[in-house]
Amino acid sequence: TTPVETLEFQSEARQLLQLMIHSIYSNKDTFLRELVSNASDALDKLRLETYRDKDLEADTSDLHVRLEVDKEQRTLTVRDNGIGMNRDDVVSLIGTIAKSGTAEFLTKLKASQSQDSAVAQDLIGQFGVGFYSSFMVADKVTLVTRRAGEVEGVRWESDGDGTYTIGPAEDAPQGTSVILHLKPADADDQLYDYTSPAKLREVVKRYSDFITWPIRMAVEAPAAPETAAATPEADGEQADAEQAKDDAATPALETLNSMKALWARPKDEVTQAEYTEFYKHVSHDWTDPLETIRLAAEGTFEYQALLFLPSRAPLDLFMRDTRRGVQLYVKRVFIMDDCEELVPEYLRFVKGVVDAQDLSLNVSREILQQDRQIQLIRRRLVKKVLSTIKDMMANSPETYATFWSEFGRAVKEGLLSDFDNREAILEICSFPSTHDEEKPTSLREYVERMKEGQEHIYYLTGDSRASIENSPHLEAFRAKGYEVLALTDQIDEMWIDSVDGFDGTRFQSVAKGQVDLDTEEEKKTSESERAQREKDFATLLSRMSASLADEVKEVRLSARLTTSPACIVGDTHDVTPTLEKMYRAMGQ
Ligand code: ADP
Ligand code: MG
Repeated sequence: TTPVETLEFQSEARQLLQLMIHSIYSNKDTFLRELVSNASDALDKLRLETYRDKDLEADTSDLHVRLEVDKEQRTLTVRDNGIGMNRDDVVSLIGTIAKSGTAEFLTKLKASQSQDSAVAQDLIGQFGVGFYSSFMVADKVTLVTRRAGEVEGVRWESDGDGTYTIGPAEDAPQGTSVILHLKPADADDQLYDYTSPAKLREVVKRYSDFITWPIRMAVEAPAAPETAAATPEADGEQADAEQAKDDAATPALETLNSMKALWARPKDEVTQAEYTEFYKHVSHDWTDPLETIRLAAEGTFEYQALLFLPSRAPLDLFMRDTRRGVQLYVKRVFIMDDCEELVPEYLRFVKGVVDAQDLSLNVSREILQQDRQIQLIRRRLVKKVLSTIKDMMANSPETYATFWSEFGRAVKEGLLSDFDNREAILEICSFPSTHDEEKPTSLREYVERMKEGQEHIYYLTGDSRASIENSPHLEAFRAKGYEVLALTDQIDEMWIDSVDGFDGTRFQSVAKGQVDLDTEEEKKTSESERAQREKDFATLLSRMSASLADEVKEVRLSARLTTSPACIVGDTHDVTPTLEKMYRAMGQ
């Protein structure tokens, strides 16, 4: 067999471990949530694996999580009999951090750490550190694991200080045991005694109650009831005594969690705190969700969904390989993570669970893509998410503002891909505008403020708010008191060209084509004056046209400028300068 080896953590992993050891994250209890969450995932994965692979030699007779305490050794063990890991799994899953965005995370962390540890905590909360949170409470962690269907077990051990040992484990049972060698007791020990069953019971109840697998812990056998001794004539006294002795040898097991799937419980029976912990379990996020959404359908095609809008965008929201989708369950049985068929890409930040009652447990990705029921659920989820955001906009503008600054750029992608919901998406968008420096405006508000005689929703695209504000294109609009939207996101350049308008009012760029701002009356009175000016400037214009022939199509007199002498205007169907820059960057 392979000998025991000492290996190094990948450098990102090492940095995160350092953080955990020095425990800048104040709520230590969360380590247990993370370990139980991993154990639960491992049980889900095993059950799924046995559906897929009938030949897998695995024991699924009593899937559970178990907590074991050794007061003398000061150890706490979190054990599951789930999927387990082989050597390669352990090295890649525990020794490295594969999460996309890790590098950026660490850069941010480094920048913030010296100044403000609250910011660092905040970042950890955003990133989530999973298994490594063990090192908040333990100075050494031993992991013994065996992958279901494989023969050889693995023993991994580390004190979190840069290296770990890994080698074979004799007689490892199927699944994973994480043995925490708890740090020495300190002044806080009353609060953080993880060898105390009462403490563990409380923490499991608070963070992991909804886990659908039993989380068990041995409890002291209850003292034999006094009445037994007081009634010696009772039948079967002998047997009772025997039983009591047995109980003392194999202590009773208590199940600490209620195991009820939150999405199946009546709405008014679930507290926000329970939703929050569930969110953290499914999303691997450490921050509270911004919004919780429930929906259900009954009848021939029954399903329940419990969805969440996070309060912060993940670091990889705009990376190519970002994971998306919600968890899919069928009749309470976990089927898959990241079910992309249930949410469109522009809502990739939505987290949660869909539990469908009428799908087969063997459902595959290929089937899902064509399944009519899945398409129906997806359509409803989208509508529900969009209407939730709309309500948020109306009823809690601050929450909406947070949402929009985190996810607005992603939502706007939907304007290009989801034609059915285009109007609904436009309704929930907001944009910086010349109306108010601080506060972005919705299109509805813009339209309500439109001046008499104003026909279009005017906008200008650009790199930044400042460059837009300083643009000579705005001058005439300012003079007229017309509001102009300042579209600064790259995505704006793309959707604005393919969306005609909002609720019957067209979008019009202030930098394209002939923008006619005069009213009919003004036109009449200035007709002769204009003709005179054309004549006056004819020589200048033709001379400029000739000398700029290679750069511009035409040089013309304009009424749109008030203080600047000249500006460059695009044709109605021209690509804007920003978009041109983008195409160039993409090599097109
Ligand atoms: P996350 O759960 O967010 O993926 P963790 O740090 O908690 O991150 O765990 C890293 C990975 O290690 C998990 O994704 C899983 O593949 C593996 N793992 C952790 N604990 C267990 C376990 N008890 N059984 C099997 N695999 C596990
Ligand atoms: Mg985890």
